[in-house]
Amino acid sequence: MTMKVSIDSEKCCGYGICAEICPSVFKLDEQGFVYLDGDVVGDEHARTAVEAADACPELVITLESA
Ligand code: SF4
Repeated sequence: MTMKVSIDSEKCCGYGICAEICPSVFKLDEQGFVYLDGDVVGDEHARTAVEAADACPELVITLESA
């Protein structure tokens, strides 16, 4: 299932857990804070993207069905 991802970057504390779990979707800038290349998550990354969202201690990541 294709999903739509968004982040509340002001809440990101730079733990990097999201990028460890799902590096195709969650990128870290040079300071270690998350950013996205796009807001669509394809089937192949949906499972790990959800895992990353659940693992984020600051609840930065929101995923919804596209
Ligand atoms: S796991 Fe959460 S707090 Fe950590 S870098 Fe990713 S979005 Fe930011």
